[in-house]
Amino acid sequence: MKNQNTKYIFFTGGVISSVGKGLTAASIGRLLKERGFSVVIQKLDPYLNVDPGTMSPYQHGEVFVLDDGAETDLDLGHYERFIDIHLTRESNLTSGQVYAEVISKERKGDYLGGTIQVIPHITDEIKRRIKRIAEISGAEFVLVEVGGTVGDIESQPFLESLRQLRQEVGREHTFFVHTTWLPFIGATGELKSKPTQHSVRELRSIGISPNMIVARADQSIAKSILEKISLFCDVDIQAVIPLVTLPVLYSVPLELEKYQVAEYILNHFGLKPKKEPDLSAWKKIIKAVDKPNHQVKIALVGKYVELHDAYISVREALNHACLNNSAQLEIDWIHSSELEKTSTQSLLSKADGILVPGGFGVRGTEGMIAAAKYARENKIPYLGLCLGFQIMVIEFARYLFTDNRANSTEFDDQTPYPVIDLLPDQKDVTEKGGTMRLGLYPCKIGKKTVAYRAYRTDLVEERHRHRYELNNHYREELEAGGMVFSGKSPDGFLVEIAELKDHPFMLGSQFHPEFLSRPNRPHPLFNEFIKAVIKRVESK
Ligand code: GLN
Repeated sequence: MKNQNTKYIFFTGGVISSVGKGLTAASIGRLLKERGFSVVIQKLDPYLNVDPGTMSPYQHGEVFVLDDGAETDLDLGHYERFIDIHLTRESNLTSGQVYAEVISKERKGDYLGGTIQVIPHITDEIKRRIKRIAEISGAEFVLVEVGGTVGDIESQPFLESLRQLRQEVGREHTFFVHTTWLPFIGATGELKSKPTQHSVRELRSIGISPNMIVARADQSIAKSILEKISLFCDVDIQAVIPLVTLPVLYSVPLELEKYQVAEYILNHFGLKPKKEPDLSAWKKIIKAVDKPNHQVKIALVGKYVELHDAYISVREALNHACLNNSAQLEIDWIHSSELEKTSTQSLLSKADGILVPGGFGVRGTEGMIAAAKYARENKIPYLGLCLGFQIMVIEFARYLFTDNRANSTEFDDQTPYPVIDLLPDQKDVTEKGGTMRLGLYPCKIGKKTVAYRAYRTDLVEERHRHRYELNNHYREELEAGGMVFSGKSPDGFLVEIAELKDHPFMLGSQFHPEFLSRPNRPHPLFNEFIKAVIKRVESK
């Protein structure tokens, strides 16, 4: 599917990271898609891990899982949600993958006689991977975001590759967007453009001139600052885009639209929109935020709550469901270990709903089990995701068997009631990277269940990332006690969804529904959960 006219848009960052470069890229992708163009997007991550799958969420935030099972950077979640596409593992390239490939070729003798160097071997491999995603996808626009900021030692080979690629495909087929941060000086009450100028100079020193600068700030940006950036950085004034921090992420495409960002880019490429953009769905989302009919408070009980990015897709999926139900969301971030020290009543009594997300390792699990118990006994809507599903099963088993030793073998390998146990095909797995049950698997939904009410279909596909499962040995006993297994693998062997009878909404899924939620199409399970939450709020 070679597309001779592929246009490349490269996204770099300056001054500091984490200011919304990924959101900018995702939003521009959306604006181009809205104009009838096909878009694919790729993130280049400078770290030496092959993927973020083995990194602590404290280091990296959430690991976003794709259909094909790739464990990727959380920016891919933004890309999928904003552009409304399904990406593949080609969309996340790390330095680790690049070096692993080059070194394995060297061992095979592919470079016999040669000295392996960053330029050209590493840069060639990076370019090959960028061109490959262009070729496989056949997309008209290939958007490429470089992680980190200009000046980082690690990102240099990536930037050099982009420079070379521009040379190869021609300037008229490439466009550079540089996202920077304008610091606010409290003493004088002004925003400063100097760090932006420095970062552009840094970019220039490696041979790249930006075509567009997205200037981020928390305060409104005066025209004079934009003019200064335009003058000193040699970028058209129409291409210096102010982007002030917005209360709702989903306003970013609308904000960029105000400045006709897509038109400017299309103009550069000599292209005209193929169709009128229709941003009504986005406007509707923003409107829903302005006038909510309900207030809901969800207790999110996890062990990485200090870093909200560790649960970014969960937070967004909750947001989508709330927007769809005209509810204003407040998340109460509760550290699961706190629930081991303090009474559940004091920490959870104000919650209208309780959510236990995914996680690994024993730390904090007793606190999560206490939260599930509180939800069951007090009939508070509960949604369990992956680990949160397993927690719900453990808690129910403890209640049913009147024995607090029921557990997952991940947390206690001596438990007399191993209600959650290792998946059979995980028993011989020793390597940690990319070896879980990962990616999209089908799940059959049982009729007359809460899950069916949510999905309204009997076969769904959802994304997974786990090593443990419900132990089938206990199925009958749990069912007899009032647990319903409303989602199963098509062969019936693996329980994918469990729910409780006689409870307004207590449901857990072995998969991660949060990865497939969209701002204007909330995930059915989140939607049903929020509906139950609203019902509870209304009845109070
Ligand atoms: N630790 C559990 C397992 O491996 C849950 C994983 C998760 O929540 N992603 O099965």
